[in-house]
Amino acid sequence: MDTKYIFITGGVTSSLGKGIISASLGKLLQARGYRITIQKFDPYINIDPGTLNPYEHGECYVTADGMETDLDLGHYERFTGIETTRDNSVTTGRIYQSVIERERRGDYLGKTIQVVPHITDEIKRRILLNASKQPFDFVITEIGGTIGDIESQPFLEAIRQLRWELGSTRALNIHLTYVPYLAAAGELKTKPTQTSVKQLQGFGIQPDVLVLRTEHELNDELRKKVAHFCNVDVEAVIQSQDLPSIYEVPLNMLKQGLDVICLKKMKVETIAEAELGSWYDFLERRRQAKDVVNIALVGKYDLQDAYKSILESLAHAGTYHNRKVKTHFINSEFLNRDNVAEQLQDMAGVVICPGFGQRGIEGKIITAEYTRTHDIPTFGICLGMQMMVIEFARNVLGYTDANSTEIDPETTHNVIDLMETQKTITQMGGTMRLGTYDCTLITKSRTWKAYGEKQHIKERHRHRYEFNNLYLGEFEQHGMRCAGFNPSANLVEIVEIPTLRWYIGTQFHPEYSSTVLQPHPLFMDFIKACLWKS
Ligand code: GLN
Repeated sequence: MDTKYIFITGGVTSSLGKGIISASLGKLLQARGYRITIQKFDPYINIDPGTLNPYEHGECYVTADGMETDLDLGHYERFTGIETTRDNSVTTGRIYQSVIERERRGDYLGKTIQVVPHITDEIKRRILLNASKQPFDFVITEIGGTIGDIESQPFLEAIRQLRWELGSTRALNIHLTYVPYLAAAGELKTKPTQTSVKQLQGFGIQPDVLVLRTEHELNDELRKKVAHFCNVDVEAVIQSQDLPSIYEVPLNMLKQGLDVICLKKMKVETIAEAELGSWYDFLERRRQAKDVVNIALVGKYDLQDAYKSILESLAHAGTYHNRKVKTHFINSEFLNRDNVAEQLQDMAGVVICPGFGQRGIEGKIITAEYTRTHDIPTFGICLGMQMMVIEFARNVLGYTDANSTEIDPETTHNVIDLMETQKTITQMGGTMRLGTYDCTLITKSRTWKAYGEKQHIKERHRHRYEFNNLYLGEFEQHGMRCAGFNPSANLVEIVEIPTLRWYIGTQFHPEYSSTVLQPHPLFMDFIKACLWKS
């Protein structure tokens, strides 16, 4: 079968959950046995979101091949279990960068370079790129932003052209909109949807399928009305109501036949039933899990999306332990010696979050000290691990000014230091130690046991600073051990205090590779340790 392309756009407002709908449709097609990939095209000008403050755009997700990407790629991987690559996340910045590089090389032979056709051609090339490298039955492309944004116009033009070139059996448009409920009138309103579709039609794009986000159920009459005004079949007007969990969305889409409608419109015979057995099991466990496990998330971004993958990884692991994980965000900026006990009381475990820069650092160090001395299960991730190391150096080894050179370049005890390979780097974007690296686990360590006694693992990274090996001997003598290291560069990847209940810090980000059907072993083991009392 020739590769087929499904484009997903959004209208009315942002944050409607296009990423979840894309991931759900991908999941359903995958469950029917198709080879799929999901990619995201973002209209902003940054080359990638790596340089973006999480307040702007939520978490920065990292692919195995080391691309800093939009957090929606995390949803794609968690839903489908299929790894994405640098070709699955493209921004306007990257599009322009390649066009401008080509222009400078003289590749355009004297032509005037314009948005149409040069930018739109580059967008089209990138949309088709994944399937030119690997066979896919379906490539789902989510277009970031909202219809009407000036910067998304070249993307709309590119998908309009592709639909025309590929034809209706190889390209399909899904438009996601919002149907607000006016409480005072007691009514659901479809006008914003109609307007949004008209706008899309103004760009020459006729949606084949509409997905309506709504907080209240839409009756048949409303669906008919939308179908009628928007030139869409009634059966292709799908509603996506708020559900208790994002992982229920694929089933809701299945119930309404989103996948079947897409297949039908693209003239693909539906032979296989969707194989979703383990997905149902996961959801059933999730629904049944009543007992709560309270986990503190100590970080500086008081914004849910900034720690998306950690929250999801905790939820996956909690579900497999038949528990509901309740996370409590604790802003490390306001955490001090006087309030730490009160803030962490009732917490079964603590995650010390990743991050960059000075803000909130001392609160993380105080947390590490409190949980170490009170034997509360603690998981330090990246910067969180580095703070565990600094705390240990200050309070156990007695180096009161121990620090990371990221925070204090003058410290005399640089237990965390800039990696050698980073010392010559001057550009900020895309230059950290990124993506998957090998890690050798120390036999018999806590971590080795958590990974099912595996010796070699691979995990994803995003950092510039690293444990300073000059201090390793001293740390080990005093009880904080290296439990895993990178074999080629000899970098410490994991530290643990084996005498404590669960006190592990990882330089890598295990949260990027936990999926619904394959929860991450370290999160699994951490939650298990948090349940020691029950
Ligand atoms: N800022 C730290 C470093 O660059 C940690 C990074 C992170 O937590 N992702 O090493």
